[in-house]
Amino acid sequence: MHKQHDNHKNEQNIPQPIRSDGAGAIDLGPRNIMRDIQNPDMLVPPITDNGLVPNLKFSFSDTSMKLNHGGWSREITVRELPIATTLAGVNMSLTAGGVRELHWHQEAEWAYMLLGRARITSVDQEGRNFIADIEPGDLWYFPPGIPHSIQGLEQCEFLLVFDDGNFSDLNTLSISDWFAHTPKDVLSANFGVAEQAFHSIPNDQVYIYQDKVPPSLENQKVLSPYGEVPLPFKYELLKQTPIQTPGGSVRIVDSSNFPISKTVAAALVEVEPGAMRELHWHPNNDEWQYYLTGEARMTVFTGNGNARTFDYRAGDVGYVPFATGHYIQNTGADTLWFLEIFKSDRFEDVSLNQWMALTPKELVQSNLNVGPELIDSLRKEKWPVVKYPGFSYYPK
Ligand code: MN
Ligand code: MN
Repeated sequence: MHKQHDNHKNEQNIPQPIRSDGAGAIDLGPRNIMRDIQNPDMLVPPITDNGLVPNLKFSFSDTSMKLNHGGWSREITVRELPIATTLAGVNMSLTAGGVRELHWHQEAEWAYMLLGRARITSVDQEGRNFIADIEPGDLWYFPPGIPHSIQGLEQCEFLLVFDDGNFSDLNTLSISDWFAHTPKDVLSANFGVAEQAFHSIPNDQVYIYQDKVPPSLENQKVLSPYGEVPLPFKYELLKQTPIQTPGGSVRIVDSSNFPISKTVAAALVEVEPGAMRELHWHPNNDEWQYYLTGEARMTVFTGNGNARTFDYRAGDVGYVPFATGHYIQNTGADTLWFLEIFKSDRFEDVSLNQWMALTPKELVQSNLNVGPELIDSLRKEKWPVVKYPGFSYYPK
């Protein structure tokens, strides 16, 4: 067979489901080798993996793109990743001038700008407005029910996160949709102008459309007699001074430093090659992850002997059920950046290392049957990212 012949030719580059202890066997059957290469720890799970942990990975590359003049969007909701009930994510790009139309929804919207610049607009229930330009590393938060828009000032791409896993960005309340489904005499009566003013309104929801690049923020300012929103909808996350540890850094944003963000908390994590996000868990809610750059491996421990390892790379989404233990290793040659996002007003994590360091050492010692080598190295301060000197995963 052709396939087998090809396989022989490239034998060295083709991963096989065989562990270093010999368990497993060569896969000569139909297989998707590109996916096996991307998922080395699914093909050959660490020997410590065990049991039935549900799927905790979905890639935006496996979603359906919605292409429009002016940009595109794709989403990961409970349809794609059934365990992810707390949050849904949308990856969106707008061209220079491209507009995500005026709309609103029942869910809060938290967003992180990946590249390029955009202008956001919003008005709250008191008639106070908020118009701002967003750069890479900035984020925004629109409370539930508050109307808003996004327009690309140049080609831009961002991640949107909504505080309900059932959310779909294709199922929101749009201004064009409402106009299209309101009798023209009602529109006329509402705005106090002749029906003919609505002669050429869109027949249907617009969603995303191509417009001209808007003038400067100064030139687009709209003064509200009620002022600006009291709590800004924008936060410059990447400009925040991070918690720096050997191996990486963490920037935390939640309602303590971004007060409007009452239902979404997040951490932007940087992990150097060979370093890892330490063993920890979160006592408040599930974790929704978005991988920005690099390659990673995460093992999630769910109790009763259950643990499962997943591989991630830029553009993938990961998920960690509430309070389950996990760590994330940078398994690539480049710096790993990812976002941990929670449906919560606060970022909270419990460090395994810190827990042990602040517990009577005799107890930890007897419980785990360990000696002073470990006990004396425990750390009372939390280090979210750690690196064991000289340790490396790359090249394997
Ligand atoms: Mn929205
Ligand atoms: Mn975590």
